[in-house]
Amino acid sequence: MGTKEIARFKSYITLMLFTGGFISFAITLLSGLYLAFKISKPIREVSHVAEGIRRDERIRKFPRVKIKEIADMAATLNGMIEKIDEKVRDSERHRREIEAIISSISEGIIAINAEGKIILWNRTASAFLSVTDTDIGGKRLIDVCRQPEIHSALQETMERSFEVRRDLYLPELQRSFKLVSVPIKREGHQLQGGAVAVLFDITELKKYDELRKEFVANVSHELKTPLTSIKGYIETLRDGAIEDRENSRRFLEIISVQAERLSLLIEDLLVLSKLERHAEKIDRSNVDLKDLMQEILLSFRHQIQAKSHSINNLLPGDLPVVKADKKKIAQALSNLIDNAVKFTPESGTITISSSLEEKGSVRISIADTGIGIPAEDLGRIFERFYRVDKDRSRELGGTGLGLSIVKHIIEAHGGNVGVKSEPGKGSTFWFTLPV
Ligand code: ADP
Repeated sequence: MGTKEIARFKSYITLMLFTGGFISFAITLLSGLYLAFKISKPIREVSHVAEGIRRDERIRKFPRVKIKEIADMAATLNGMIEKIDEKVRDSERHRREIEAIISSISEGIIAINAEGKIILWNRTASAFLSVTDTDIGGKRLIDVCRQPEIHSALQETMERSFEVRRDLYLPELQRSFKLVSVPIKREGHQLQGGAVAVLFDITELKKYDELRKEFVANVSHELKTPLTSIKGYIETLRDGAIEDRENSRRFLEIISVQAERLSLLIEDLLVLSKLERHAEKIDRSNVDLKDLMQEILLSFRHQIQAKSHSINNLLPGDLPVVKADKKKIAQALSNLIDNAVKFTPESGTITISSSLEEKGSVRISIADTGIGIPAEDLGRIFERFYRVDKDRSRELGGTGLGLSIVKHIIEAHGGNVGVKSEPGKGSTFWFTLPV
């Protein structure tokens, strides 16, 4: 082999080696690329799903992959996702339950964060404060609720980090509330900021309290008037008037009338108090209203005669029998007849009639041709101590409790009361009783 051939052979070998190297390099590169692609595809898919979960998209499951290690990892992640999903569903259900409970609470609940933004607001709060906005969460309290008293209470709670209690009267809503506001704290009692207020509607309570105070004032006044008179006349008698036969007799007569008034008043108060406390049960028996009315008219015959009234008792013989407490119904009828006689000037007419109501009750009406009641007083006439003319009522021996007693008795029997009247012409009082 010549030198030339050796050189050619060398270059041939070199070429072969180079080509072989290149081919093996290419094969390695290609298989590497293939492998890289095969592994990276599922990894990309996995990371795509993970990114989707992060962005809260709907894809919630990793795809099936052939590479065992990645498939294991995907399965573990799928298991985790299921657990997380379950927890999210649980907490969502829990949140909805709490929302439902809070919105059904009969107290208004308002919670704000440290920036004064609403974090909780229930339906009752909207109803109490006449707020019609339904998308309240996240808004500033000041933009939703125009009641400065509520703002200041919550503000003070946050500033002092202490419970604040207030009684509020909101004139534009004509309602009274008790507000209790407390700071929002974390478990470790570390202040987180924000406050929660609970609003209790105390409008009715306040009204009852006012009525109670008014009633006590009225009772005291009603008791004081005859007592002052009795004391005065006794002192006059003691100071010497007792020697004056004619005057002393007159004074004793006045004392007797006032004592009788006191006793009537106390009697009526006791009756009313028992009715209001439901202290006595309704002792029902069959009551013939026509017979009962006759008995009552008989008991009033002297007063009726004294005023020359004529009585028209139109109650029919076949009036349905009612199941009622005879004594109490007699008391109600007496009070109405007493008023008709008292408030009708001489030679008046009192007509007693009945009708059957559609709802299966009987209506008894007592009409007089008396002084009548002005329209503006009609709505209050059944209230305790309400009288159109106090002096006239007292003069006629009234306590101002008669109609209130009638209303209580009739309502305790499941009936209703009412009145129609025209001043100067007369009044018609009526009540119904279930048959
Ligand atoms: P009183 O003891 O004053 O009669 P009531 O409660 O029975 O108390 O009645 C309240 C008021 O209603 C009376 O003071 C009177 O002003 C008015 N009133 C009641 N009945 C009649 C009637 N038949 N006619 C006119 N006014 C009446």
